[in-house]
Amino acid sequence: MNKKVAIIGSGFGGLALAIRLQASGLDTVIFEKRDKPGGRAYFYEEEGFHFDAGPTVITAPHIFQELFDLTDKKMEDYIELIPIDPFYRLIWPDGEVFNYNSDMDALYSQIEKLNPKDVDGYKKFLKFSNAVFKEGYEKMVDHPFQSIWSMIKVAPQLILLQSFRSVYSMVSKYIKHPKLRQAFSYHTLLLGGSPYSSSAIYSLIHALEHKWGVWFSKGGTSALIAGLVRLYEDLGGTLHLNYEVKSIETNKNNEIHSIVNENGEEVEVSAVASNADIYHTYNDLLSDNKIAQRKTKILKRKKFSPSLFVLHFGLRKKHPQLAHHTILFGPRWKELLKDIYKNGVLPEDNALYLHAPSVTDSTMAPEGCSAYYALAVVPNLGKLDIDWSKEKDRYKNIIYQQLEDRCLPNLRDDLVVERVFTPIDFQKELNAYEGAAFSMEPLLIQSAYFRIHNSDQKIKGLYFTGAGTHPGAGVPGVVNSAKATARIMIEKLDHG
Ligand SMILES: Cc1cc2nc3c(=O)[nH]c(=O)nc-3n(C[C@H](O)[C@H](O)[C@H](O)COP(=O)(O)OP(=O)(O)OC[C@H]3O[C@@H](n4cnc5c(N)ncnc54)[C@H](O)[C@@H]3O)c2cc1C
Repeated sequence: MNKKVAIIGSGFGGLALAIRLQASGLDTVIFEKRDKPGGRAYFYEEEGFHFDAGPTVITAPHIFQELFDLTDKKMEDYIELIPIDPFYRLIWPDGEVFNYNSDMDALYSQIEKLNPKDVDGYKKFLKFSNAVFKEGYEKMVDHPFQSIWSMIKVAPQLILLQSFRSVYSMVSKYIKHPKLRQAFSYHTLLLGGSPYSSSAIYSLIHALEHKWGVWFSKGGTSALIAGLVRLYEDLGGTLHLNYEVKSIETNKNNEIHSIVNENGEEVEVSAVASNADIYHTYNDLLSDNKIAQRKTKILKRKKFSPSLFVLHFGLRKKHPQLAHHTILFGPRWKELLKDIYKNGVLPEDNALYLHAPSVTDSTMAPEGCSAYYALAVVPNLGKLDIDWSKEKDRYKNIIYQQLEDRCLPNLRDDLVVERVFTPIDFQKELNAYEGAAFSMEPLLIQSAYFRIHNSDQKIKGLYFTGAGTHPGAGVPGVVNSAKATARIMIEKLDHG
């Protein structure tokens, strides 16, 4: 019997890779630790409330279309995406509201209200963002950077696009009003990066959202995951849930030959693509391999993203006045991010993201009720190793208070269900190093060639897909990482 290609983890990156490999004729199997697929895109169902655990902002829907295009299946038979407008509603502590949306005239008039001169500056920023999009997304996002030469080749474009500057600094070059500077630079936080240190390359997110819009998967992001799992299984792939891989076995030539699970069962494989955390893969799964252990030491010196405090709650009431996605900025910004990224301080005045899917999709909560999650970026466990089991109730109430003061008055009177996911849960449930929510930070010195490569050059048969490899975190990032990795794997395994 032919040995299968094993994929460890069923996050978006793992599923997208498995679909690509399976569609190319390779025989694959996914091993997933948890009881449901999706990784960070897991979900909870409680008393009729449906809570997506992770990604809610779906951009670049063509990345899914591309997967279906590899098969004879139609995307509309598997998933349904609904456009969201405004993309985001931004609210500041003084009550100022900015609806960031696709209607350019509406956008210009809101910018004009804050600072007339910034309309022109915004147009210049958009032009810059489009140029970065062309170079950074269209040419690099699904291109594996396996050698230093591949990096040197794109260096002139990177210099031209001033990628050595930060997103915030580029936005500030064009836009002067402090609120507008926040409005057009906070996006890197969705990928785990501070706007003050993430490369200006990431300003392409702005162009990407304008080009393809912001979408919600009907039934929640988990319905999108379910659609991808169905596609994968219809192609003949096998998904094993509740199956934690404990080790990846190599021979003395550093060739992978098998994986071993928690019960000691060994499965022979022709190759392994890890969608699991990169540090976990090298440190724990390859603990007997010297090359991997050297990699572990290098990884320890890298900067990992912050973690998240995620508060899910269901209310016995609807709030149709809310936008689907709201960002509630706090009183501080630069200093706040410094506390999270550098000082390892848990902020009492954090900015929040509020997800209110019930305003778009009534199936997310029982009749007359509504489902939410509030999310705060918090230091990872490497920066702040506190006892979250003790801290979580206090922090939860700080968040509830903020929400009650600013957009959901007396919400605690209407609570039906709630659940909290802290940095410790990222570490325990997802094997995330330091409880980081987005793997390594998206810094220029940790991007492309300088990120973990899509295939390991020394351990033969070891590949990566997902947030830790190129291009990085975020749903478009990890689905494109699968494209880059599939390219190398199909070439190697078909013809190698
Ligand atoms: C709360 C939150 C909100 C987010 N919001 C957005 C958003 O709105 N839009 C956006 O684009 N991005 C968002 N992101 C980022 C995005 O969700 C992630 O970057 C992306 O989903 C990560 O996918 P991945 O392929 O790297 O795999 P992951 O989702 O990290 O999945 C890895 C899988 O590997 C499994 N695994 C780990 N170790 C083992 C093992 N030893 N054996 C077997 N299985 C194992 C895990 O259980 C997990 O299922 C968000 C992230 C979080 C946490």
